[in-house]
Amino acid sequence: MSSLVRINRLFPLRHLIPHATKNPIRNISKINNIEGLSWGNRTFLRFLSTETSPREEDYHSIIKDTEKPIGESTKHEFQAETRMLLDIVARSLYSEKEVFIRELISNASDALEKFRYLSISKEGAEKIKDVDRALEIHISTDKHNRTLTIQDTGIGMTESELISNLGVIAKSGSKAFIEEMKSKQTNGDNNIIGQFGVGFYSVFMVADKVEVYSRAAGEDQGFKWTSDGTGTYEIQPAEGVLFGTKIVIHLKTDCREFADDDTIKSIINKYSNFVGSPLYLNGKKANIVQPLWLSDPKSITPQQHNDFYRFVSKSYDMPRFTLHYKTDVPLSIRALLYFPEGKPGLFEMSQENQSGVALYTKKILIKNRADNILPKWLRFVKGVIDSEDIPLNLSRELLQNSALIKKLRDVLTAKIIKFLQDQLKKNQAEYEKFYQDYGIFIKEGIITNYDQAEKEEAAHLLMFESSQQEPNKKVNLNEYISRAADNRTIFFLAAPSRTLAESSPYYESLKTKNQEVLFCYEPYDELVLTQLRQFKGYKLVSVESDMRDDKTANDLTNLGEDSLKRSEIDELSNWVKDKLSGKADSVHATTRLENHPCVVTVEEMAAARHFIKTQSHNLPEDRRYSILRPQFEINPRHPIIKKLHKLTKSDPELAELLAKQLFANSMVGAGLVEDSRFLLTSMNELLVKVLDKH
Ligand code: ADP
Ligand code: MG
Repeated sequence: MSSLVRINRLFPLRHLIPHATKNPIRNISKINNIEGLSWGNRTFLRFLSTETSPREEDYHSIIKDTEKPIGESTKHEFQAETRMLLDIVARSLYSEKEVFIRELISNASDALEKFRYLSISKEGAEKIKDVDRALEIHISTDKHNRTLTIQDTGIGMTESELISNLGVIAKSGSKAFIEEMKSKQTNGDNNIIGQFGVGFYSVFMVADKVEVYSRAAGEDQGFKWTSDGTGTYEIQPAEGVLFGTKIVIHLKTDCREFADDDTIKSIINKYSNFVGSPLYLNGKKANIVQPLWLSDPKSITPQQHNDFYRFVSKSYDMPRFTLHYKTDVPLSIRALLYFPEGKPGLFEMSQENQSGVALYTKKILIKNRADNILPKWLRFVKGVIDSEDIPLNLSRELLQNSALIKKLRDVLTAKIIKFLQDQLKKNQAEYEKFYQDYGIFIKEGIITNYDQAEKEEAAHLLMFESSQQEPNKKVNLNEYISRAADNRTIFFLAAPSRTLAESSPYYESLKTKNQEVLFCYEPYDELVLTQLRQFKGYKLVSVESDMRDDKTANDLTNLGEDSLKRSEIDELSNWVKDKLSGKADSVHATTRLENHPCVVTVEEMAAARHFIKTQSHNLPEDRRYSILRPQFEINPRHPIIKKLHKLTKSDPELAELLAKQLFANSMVGAGLVEDSRFLLTSMNELLVKVLDKH
């Protein structure tokens, strides 16, 4: 064990700093191998380490001023349609100018890929002399001359290819190449990005003039192509042209920022960090991050995941679950998705917050925070989705509406839900922690979805306490069903806490029957279950509405000795209804209560409570009752109710105070009164009246 490993185990970071600064670790891989080191410490040690990758630090550039046009220049006109399209591309196809860099880099990357294919083919090997040449992309900026140059060592273009590929818009040499490859049945991954034949012209969003020097593989002669992007272009033979293609962009005055090293660096980081070949900017290696989502899942270390997660999420916590997903049907998807360890902040919760996933096609970014790839409620998921079926130059509007994107979203949503269901099965404790932090998003997903099948899929992820289990132990709907009786009903009860749920008057009779009931403590739980309506053919029924709808409870034939008689009940009900007029919509006797004198039920209790919480403060009291239409249910066996009946005769004034008080208590008990302090005034009035007698 190295001294450093021991130090780390024994001492916190502050002891580590002086040691590490005095004895810097030369080898970064050593730092990676230290076990049990926190992320902060590890990063700090990397920072202190003296190892530098020689490739990253060393200056390396192939861009030199060697090209010299020779011979005659021929002038060509763009075709009429090309001119029109050119205008569209340069003016309105792309929402941001900076994407021209992404387009040129992806063309360079395509050219390198094509060279790779060619060099391993039989005819290629004969034609090309330097099969082993370094395959690279170089970019240089020149502020003084206001130019930007991008050069690759790829397949290059012949004179006729310059004419057909750059002279005719919407003619993609790359697409033709792919088709030819297919017809030859060449095997291997197709890494070529271009296929629409418009990307190159995006350069005219920023350029006054563009010079392309190109020399095709195995050709002796190079050529220069020049155009200002209006009507014509010129082609001329040139000397000193390296194999591959070099594009010199003379920037418009108002686009001078693209001659700045830092600007280009950040654009590369944004769009082209993952291109398959080395990319140098002004002699320095500029793309560093591996496209982890394309690697074999087994080969990726936890450290790589952590680093990549931080890169894509721009945060400093860690992933709690990682979903690495690959499929080719119904469309090609390579996705690496992370579920954050940290709790969501207020901003993440808000609907304003954008998606956390970036959309790529073949390692090139289409859009960061791509909004329609996942449904809104999955905005806490971070990561990358790469689909080669999606064209690079898909406009914003298309991104929002295309059927392709919708399909992508459906497949991914189903996959994510399935993945979370698996987490629940694999490790319930871990899943519960996740649910504690992110359950609110799942609930949002159910409430905002209109598709019953999708709702039910997401509902697999819900967790509740159950009357049949100890406090704090959570169950899901599947577990409930596995124990359920054949009435195909899932009962639930909303209450602020376990104690209040267990002592709830609504739950009383089900408790006696030993019926399992899910307890909902969180604000949105009961709304979610009400909206869900059913799960796997089981009806979701709130205990309160079950009570309201339970007709058998109004059957008063077997009340027994201990109860008010039928005639007395009718008498009392009418009397109470009269006193509560404008408040209670109706008054009934019920057999469902044991220890409680009375309750209030309303149609759609969840919606009513939600309404009270959010709307009721500026509503006059009488309006509130006319909207809620509470049903007052009384227990004819309860001493208070029996006493109330007596009082209606002996002391009607006291009886009225008592009836009103019981009703008010029930409203509070049902959670239909926001501020229960209002009880106190009437309570005191009642007490005064009662105490008066003594
Ligand atoms: P796409 O990339 O969709 O095919 P572009 O307008 O970006 O369309 O490019 C048009 C064509 O020009 C490409 O298909 C390719 O044949 C050719 N081309 C562009 N840039 C290069 C390059 N750097 N090297 C070789 N060929 C290139
Ligand atoms: Mg292209």
